[in-house]
Amino acid sequence: MRVVAEAQRRPADAVARLRYAGTPVSTFCRRRGFLARPGQVVAEPDQDGRAVVLNVGLGPSGSATAATFRRAAAAAVRAAGPARTLRLDLAPLDGDDLSEADQACALAEGAALAGYRYGGHRSDGRTGTLREVVVVTGAHEAVAAALAACAGTCLARDLVNCPGGELTPPEFARRIQRIAEREGLTCAVHEDPGELGLAGLVAVGRGSRQPPRFVRLSHGPADADDDQPSIGLVGKGITFDSGGLSLKPTERMRSMKSDMGGAAAVVGALAALPRLGLPVRVDAFLPLAENMPDGAALRVGDVVRHVDGSSTEIVDTDNEGRVVLADVLVHAAERCEAVLDVATLTSAVAQALGTRAGAVFANDEQLAGTVLAGAARAGEPLWRLPLLTAERRHLRSAVADRVNASHREGDAVQAALFLQEFVPATTPWAHLDIAAAAFNAEGPYDEIPHGGTGFGVRTLVEALKLLSADAAAPTCGPSAP
Ligand code: MN
Ligand code: MN
Repeated sequence: MRVVAEAQRRPADAVARLRYAGTPVSTFCRRRGFLARPGQVVAEPDQDGRAVVLNVGLGPSGSATAATFRRAAAAAVRAAGPARTLRLDLAPLDGDDLSEADQACALAEGAALAGYRYGGHRSDGRTGTLREVVVVTGAHEAVAAALAACAGTCLARDLVNCPGGELTPPEFARRIQRIAEREGLTCAVHEDPGELGLAGLVAVGRGSRQPPRFVRLSHGPADADDDQPSIGLVGKGITFDSGGLSLKPTERMRSMKSDMGGAAAVVGALAALPRLGLPVRVDAFLPLAENMPDGAALRVGDVVRHVDGSSTEIVDTDNEGRVVLADVLVHAAERCEAVLDVATLTSAVAQALGTRAGAVFANDEQLAGTVLAGAARAGEPLWRLPLLTAERRHLRSAVADRVNASHREGDAVQAALFLQEFVPATTPWAHLDIAAAAFNAEGPYDEIPHGGTGFGVRTLVEALKLLSADAAAPTCGPSAP
């Protein structure tokens, strides 16, 4: 399904009319209880019976946000039934409502994100009936930019939805290489992460017959030199997390192909950057491994010696994420001005925030604010949690510098504190724990499908837009000679 912006209204199988509460509707709609509640849809035949009119509610005029319009477009896409083409007409502009361009972008996003189907393994190849959604607007450029970010989200969803037995670390690395070639990114695949000192990645990867990979992916403006400051993105890429010898019960293993959701989000965001032409250098660091209980697997009680010389005692092989990310954070902080990591790290984040939101931790107020502002613009629910120093006591080990234990109380915070030990205090750093939000085990809602959600892609893109605007802003005071 594709989404396009067109200035002209042309015929379509289904036409969505967006309606504010209180505006007059047909008797047909009234009899069917249409009150224009946000996301409410009532379908009626048009006068000559050729098309279906979808009346879509927005709630009261003046209270509709970008999220309302995304949700409305998503509702229209789901209600389109057998239609092959759907036209979305903008709502009438009214004082304090969104501008035409913002409305058009939100509609395009809602349609593109809700229209996603994972077609990977259906023998009939079916990915839905709807072929094309037309947003009637003159704001072509804004819509194209919004759709580039949505394409990144859908790319991340495809990667997350791919079974662990197919998307092994070497296969994931190959796919990233192909994406880089297609989108104009620089990519390097390291087949021996041990050469770079990535001890955690090597240690966790040993438990699988599929060898680990370390992938570097970069975006830079065409005229950028190597000295230009860069923003580092780190993504956890555990292609399947069985728990290792600390094996998970089946119930908790069911969604564990999504344990590479952080790496997928970073790849999706990078893929959107060349199309957006952001004047900022972004370097991605992607550790890819499978956590399995092979004979060579990490044992409980083993000690991993990290690239910074410090050591971690492994008391739970299912807490592999922080062990893998540790060395990669050191690596990224040495090369970048600021570092953001995205990881499906702890189930504790779901206990704190539910399954539809992510958490962000940060050692820097400005970066935290930028990430939260990006999430708000993307409509991805993200909440800041604190790096509580009192919780550091849970990292103490009798035999090493720290332990990778998890506790029922506060594990999301403790995992973040573990990661913080590998980032210099002078490097602005933010950590996104998207363990619950990366995979929707329930039915679809709003613009989110079942399965991989691509959570984080659009937050990263919006945050990078804000960071590049900061970098491009003129500095105050007299300029250097
Ligand atoms: Mn695990
Ligand atoms: Mn994991």
